[in-house]
Amino acid sequence: MKLKDRVAVVTGASRGIGRSIALHFAGEGAKLAISGRDPDRLTELHDELRAKGNEVISILGDVSNEADVVKLIKGTVEAFGRIDILVNNAGFGIFKPVIHMKTEEFDSLFGVNMRGAFIATREALRYMIAQNDGVIINIASLAGKNALENGAAYAATKWAMIGFAKSVMLEVRKHNIRVVTISPGSVDTDFGLSNRHNRDRILKPDDVAEAAVLAAGLPATAMMSEIDLRPTNPKA
Ligand code: NAP
Repeated sequence: MKLKDRVAVVTGASRGIGRSIALHFAGEGAKLAISGRDPDRLTELHDELRAKGNEVISILGDVSNEADVVKLIKGTVEAFGRIDILVNNAGFGIFKPVIHMKTEEFDSLFGVNMRGAFIATREALRYMIAQNDGVIINIASLAGKNALENGAAYAATKWAMIGFAKSVMLEVRKHNIRVVTISPGSVDTDFGLSNRHNRDRILKPDDVAEAAVLAAGLPATAMMSEIDLRPTNPKA
């Protein structure tokens, strides 16, 4: 077991990539704090993990709400005594030409995808620095490294996330804290479902989860700071 008794927080765990990361981490022996806004889906995952014998707590919350994020990190430490891994996964997309993008839509994208990750990172670091140990995994996107027609605001949140993560890494590596960014291409989830043409050839949530396990499970002295994840053969 690569993550035996490691305490992991996963945001956006109610479905898609986050759900898969939570299941894979639990399978590697981690104790889980799962979060999201959908109580039914969160309870379903909670019950599934408990049935497998994993230690888990679920904390409902919206990552764009600072108090919710503070409660998530604090609640995790109160329940498990520490926080070893934070996965900043919660996110969403709005895809339309900039000329049709409302300011509120732009703000909400940054509020969830970037600001939420910033608050969770800051709050987790308070404990990780004291522990002199920790891993922060950010689920960015290849849209954070490339231009995306009709996805300017979404891509900007992911470019921002990558820049933020790489800079934080320089600040905290002296505390033995590893900061990892995973940038997947298209993944077969509910996210942007209408755009999917080749669902059988794109990445699966489990592929991203495997990459997260790999990064979190490395020896503490080694940091896999950036992972670009693509389907091997996307063209059918
Ligand atoms: P998904 O299936 O739509 O899941 C998104 C997750 O984020 C859900 O669990 C949702 O939970 C949570 N979430 C959304 N807004 C939230 C908020 N305001 N507060 C708390 N939780 C929130 O999408 P996914 O594909 O798994 O996406 C996960 C991450 O991967 C995102 O950051 C996305 O940008 C990134 N990504 C996705 C792809 C892709 O093609 N799918 C590719 C690259 C990167 P609730 O609804 O319960 O709140």
